[in-house]
Amino acid sequence: MFTPLAPRTPGALRRHLWRTDLLVVGASVIASAMFAHLSFTMFGTIDYAGTMVAAVAIPLVVASLAFAWIAALTLRLDASRRELERMAHQDPLTGLANRRAALARLEQWAGTPDRIALAIADIDFFKRVNDRLGHDAGDASLVHFAAMLRKLLPAEWLVARIGGEEFLIAARDADFPAFAARIEAVRVAVAQTPLIVSAGPWQMTASFGLAERLAGEPADRMITRADTALYAAKQAGRNRIERAA
Ligand code: GH3
Ligand code: MG
Ligand code: MG
Repeated sequence: MFTPLAPRTPGALRRHLWRTDLLVVGASVIASAMFAHLSFTMFGTIDYAGTMVAAVAIPLVVASLAFAWIAALTLRLDASRRELERMAHQDPLTGLANRRAALARLEQWAGTPDRIALAIADIDFFKRVNDRLGHDAGDASLVHFAAMLRKLLPAEWLVARIGGEEFLIAARDADFPAFAARIEAVRVAVAQTPLIVSAGPWQMTASFGLAERLAGEPADRMITRADTALYAAKQAGRNRIERAA
């Protein structure tokens, strides 16, 4: 496997490429000239057949080596680009899509006339987990919650961590009552699956705000309506789902 290239400034990279170019071209010219020189000094004249063989062999060897070098550099560059792309779109703690990726995908969906079902989830009393069990247990409960979402929801649904203990779930072309039923099943499963920490089992619940896309509604307005429904779920006592008006 190719490891990503160490970061270089654009100026340093340009200088590095110039040096590589000079080295490859220089080595090729020197090798050809040396052979012609040796042929002349050894035989007193240029040996036609030998020189022709060398004229073919030298660029073949030098160009192949240079190409292999450039190919290796290109593969390492591609590995760096992929790694950066992954970091730009993934939440490092849970491995879910991050806020940026979720909004981009939702905006892309909202650019079509398709139906969209959306839920914003927020873990209840999450601050208590941090306060009573420590920040590491808080992180572990985020990973636990994210894993449950991913396990219980269809792979083609968008599942993202969009804030500290806030998650976004969206389905394209989904029947809204069926979507709401899946989210309710997740809520129940989360409430019934305590996180096991060193202090013992920790009962965890979450609240959900749901919104079905209105005709032509942009992504941000849909999120605002789901957020308002989430606030209503918190006000009504948490560990429940509320649908936007
Ligand atoms: P509510 O039921 O109203 O949602 O209450 P809450 O305690 O869940 O909400 P609140 O907004 O008061 O607290 C959220 C906490 O989430 C505060 C912050 O310390 C914590 N938090 C945010 N991001 C992270 C994280 O990445 N790791 C950990 N361990 N904690 C985080
Ligand atoms: Mg919370
Ligand atoms: Mg919150």
